[in-house]
Amino acid sequence: MFIPRIPLIFFTRFVNMERNLSPHPDPIPVGIPLIQRLLLMRRIHMMGWILAILPLTLGLFVLRSSPEPFALGLVSGVAWFVLSRAVPENLEGGFGVIPMSLIQNVNNLRDPDEICCKRQLLQWEVRAIRCRHCREISLNRSRPDLGRIRADGRLKGILRILLIDGASVYPNIGESIISDGVKTVGEVLEEE
Ligand SMILES: [Zn+2]
Repeated sequence: MFIPRIPLIFFTRFVNMERNLSPHPDPIPVGIPLIQRLLLMRRIHMMGWILAILPLTLGLFVLRSSPEPFALGLVSGVAWFVLSRAVPENLEGGFGVIPMSLIQNVNNLRDPDEICCKRQLLQWEVRAIRCRHCREISLNRSRPDLGRIRADGRLKGILRILLIDGASVYPNIGESIISDGVKTVGEVLEEE
């Protein structure tokens, strides 16, 4: 569980990567620094795959000669990591926490086709990319962990990575199973 996440924990929690980005939890303007950070985070996520080979090889090697519970734990830990990365959150969205399609979509917003208002200023808030002035949503996608120093501290930040790999805890706006469930129950009650 821990070994494949070492790069993510080290680079996002113990190295100061602030540089051109606004401090956490402020919204980040859509621009080149944001795209660079997304690409960097994607690379750090990829490093986890390389580190996952280590416990997997060790576990399989030991299991070949004797059924050690610890070796089985190593293998199942890596299997969990692989599953959590390989199963997509939604089928069109691509694989992993920061899929390439997401980075392309954000990059397209640097030069958007539609102008929402005269003072268009797009920025990535916690729940979506919105215009700062007219609040129109340009990309309905929750913001993943971008490796900024977290306002809620290092310990909670590490726990967050171990549990959800730095993905957002919020569903995209209008895609919550819970709110859909409440809506459906409401409709059923009205019909009755
Ligand atoms: Zn606007």
